[in-house]
Amino acid sequence: MMKKQGMIRKTVLLSSLLLLSTSCQQNAAADPSGSAVSFPQMHDFNSSLKETAVDDAYRNTYEVFLRSYYDSDHDGIGDLKGLQTKLDEIRDMGFTEIWLMPICPSDTYHKYDVKDYMAIDPQYGTMEDYDSLVKACHERGIRVITDLVLNHTAFGHEWFQNAWAYLKELPEDWQPSTDYCPYFDYYHFSREFQSGYEKLPDTNWYYEARFWDQMPDLNLDSEQVRNEIVSIMKFWLEHGTDGFRLDAVTSYYTGDPEKNTAFLKWLSEEGKKLNPDCYFVGEAWTNKDEIAVLYQSGIDSLFAFPFADAEGVIKKTAAGIIGADDYVTSMISCEQAWQQANPAYVNAPFYTNHDMGRSAGYYAGDDGSRTKLAGALNILMNGNVFVYYGEEIGMKGAGRDENKRAPMYWSKDAAEGMCDPPEGMDDIEMKFDPYDVQKDDPYSILNYYREALKIRNAFPVIARGETVAVDAVMEEEIAAFIRHHEQYDDVMIIINTSENEETVSLNELPFHELKAVLNTGADEVRIDNEELILPPFGIAVMTK
Ligand code: CA
Repeated sequence: MMKKQGMIRKTVLLSSLLLLSTSCQQNAAADPSGSAVSFPQMHDFNSSLKETAVDDAYRNTYEVFLRSYYDSDHDGIGDLKGLQTKLDEIRDMGFTEIWLMPICPSDTYHKYDVKDYMAIDPQYGTMEDYDSLVKACHERGIRVITDLVLNHTAFGHEWFQNAWAYLKELPEDWQPSTDYCPYFDYYHFSREFQSGYEKLPDTNWYYEARFWDQMPDLNLDSEQVRNEIVSIMKFWLEHGTDGFRLDAVTSYYTGDPEKNTAFLKWLSEEGKKLNPDCYFVGEAWTNKDEIAVLYQSGIDSLFAFPFADAEGVIKKTAAGIIGADDYVTSMISCEQAWQQANPAYVNAPFYTNHDMGRSAGYYAGDDGSRTKLAGALNILMNGNVFVYYGEEIGMKGAGRDENKRAPMYWSKDAAEGMCDPPEGMDDIEMKFDPYDVQKDDPYSILNYYREALKIRNAFPVIARGETVAVDAVMEEEIAAFIRHHEQYDDVMIIINTSENEETVSLNELPFHELKAVLNTGADEVRIDNEELILPPFGIAVMTK
């Protein structure tokens, strides 16, 4: 596309220019040899931003895999107490919610096969530890949501074990009865083989297990199972849990979006009956339109999968595979489809999660700039934004699942709190520095993420508003949009997604006050000679 700069007579608001020239003088370049941390322009410029806490579902959520996060008792496995010691740092990064991947007793390292829905896995600690963690989070304005895995249980769950024991004893010519074994109704058993079913050992029965033979699918039509689910939600809500991340919602009724939507509606309504603020976010790994169908359930949030992963909109934008304008039009089309399906929906953007290759591996030869830009493309979306632990320091890990769930890279040396790798994890050569180095490096990915989250906290409209394109300045390399909401002051966000400096005439922009900046390096976002100058990958946040 044509550059639009220079096509229109340039004018500038004098006040903006004066404000800017003052701000720019405060810049202090980092001194690599010095011991004191000297922050670059970005941090100085944004230092006056005031964080505005709003107590609603629009959060900055940190996805934590406890197993690999922080080990408090030196057994090599991360735990609840370990996470609790890191809460101040998590809050200071700008997070306002934590999503805990499954914490219930399980025989696997990932714990997505639950053996007891109302207990804490002893590897992670005790119920008291959980209560203490939740209290400490709430004291810091951090909400806690936990994984709720309802599609299946562990093979070793007592419900399944009871049903199995019953079927082992049941004579061939007898019909099973839930009067004798209520748990027969908790799962899908069949005397005939069916697609998605596994042979039940020592019987002539089959059971549904779509993901793995050790994870039998629950019968979600069973009234007793539904009663169990309500009891489980009640249990965790009474322990202060603020909501649930719902695993594998498209598999509840495999291939039946209508029934999945109906179940989500029931689940969401039951949760809100227990606590009107109970928040739900569902994992529907599918496209915009199928996600829209599920939003008809009235569920708060469904993850914005079209933007995530190595083939998603965020990566493709940061890699220059699609245009910056495509990022904006994709946001708008998803927002419209989902908002239409559920007017009260809360978008749930994310970039990667525990099932995806880590993003630092997406850009060969990247010096960190594209990794940072992509982080901002995620964080500047509306809704409740999710960041998978380790992305904020550009950890690496791809291929087998264990690699995607590597120990949080606190330090290069075997340091306090470092976890052992999950069994079977390959050796992973990290590309960027560990946390303890990045926290003191003003140009680190970590400090960039901090800055992006800080901006999000300072302007509530970024999370809560709808996206409106600023077509006048939109180009293949320039994303330009306003976040608009009736209750909050609008902001305009201009993003240079290219590795070249870009300029935009202020005259073309509806907003002129530069309020916050994101620079991936030493080059500064600034206003100069009636133009907004965006260095490579630079981002400007402006108000009227
Ligand atoms: Ca431990």
